Amino acid sequence: MEKISVVVPCYNEEKSIPLFYSEIDKISKKMKKLNFEFLFINDGSSDKTLDVCKELAKKDKRVKYISFSRNFGKEAAMYAGMEHSIGDYVTIMDVDLQDPPELLPKMYNCIKEKGYDCVATRRVTRKGEPPIRSFLARRFYKLINKMSDIEMVDGARDYRLMTRQVVDSILSMKEYNRYSKGLFSFVGYKTKWLEYENRERAIGETKYNIWKLFMYAFEGIIAFSTTPLWIAAIVGIIFCLISFIAIIFIIIKTLCYGDPVGGWPSMVCIIFMVSGIQLFCIGIIGAYLSKTYLETKNRPIYIIKEKN
Ligand code: UDP
Ligand code: MG
Repeated sequence: MEKISVVVPCYNEEKSIPLFYSEIDKISKKMKKLNFEFLFINDGSSDKTLDVCKELAKKDKRVKYISFSRNFGKEAAMYAGMEHSIGDYVTIMDVDLQDPPELLPKMYNCIKEKGYDCVATRRVTRKGEPPIRSFLARRFYKLINKMSDIEMVDGARDYRLMTRQVVDSILSMKEYNRYSKGLFSFVGYKTKWLEYENRERAIGETKYNIWKLFMYAFEGIIAFSTTPLWIAAIVGIIFCLISFIAIIFIIIKTLCYGDPVGGWPSMVCIIFMVSGIQLFCIGIIGAYLSKTYLETKNRPIYIIKEKN
């Protein structure tokens, strides 16, 4: 019998896990042709998430848990889950039921009968989300798709069903700064997109505030585009040209009218602006350098404290 692994990253989700388990258990009973394995990844939660996982594991042999030594982030949790999964198919689901488990049979059919390697999901609405978050997310997808050769689908979730081959391809990318939406796209394969209306979180609160999302967006751009580096270079060239024209203008003006000390305030403004732009460009280079620095350290993506 074929096996399917359900990877579930959990960070302070003691209340969501029982709800999630009862839903996924129903689905597993419907999909009789498959053996299920549930991998709960406790991403350094400070609540009773781990105890809840242990309880479940006692009740149900299909439940496995992996507990990190601290909070490593959802990306690390997904990686750990995929690395420990043994299924022929692997799916990643949020524990808050925002990724509808009832889509799973349809996803499985697409792979089994229509010959897809991977079935991904995207939400077509963002109902129930703070408007500022939706607005910034839309801008981000416009921006990154302009900047990167890799296609990032607006509204794409990490919720997807993959064959073992796709999972192995993703696992072969061992980079420390992980941006999975890009990595999924990077590996290619025949992918089917399923669309659904946004769901609100079943219980609990989002773990991503605006600042964390901003850093996540930044991570995506740095990981999948070198356009900012080019922008820095182009801004530099434009400013060289402007200053060249200004120098010629000033020389001619001084020769014609003679004006030795005029223009002091404008000089100060120019110095401020140009040094600002220089620092900005150094900052861009610094951002890439810092990511490269972290990569070369070869630190583990996650550290496990205990598992079953
Ligand atoms: N999550 C995690 N580590 C983190 C943050 C989140 O494992 O540092 C998990 C979280 O428990 C949930 C999923 O990632 O299962 C998505 O998080 P959340 O629902 O808070 O994000 P949102 O849906 O609001 O984007
Ligand atoms: Mg959520």
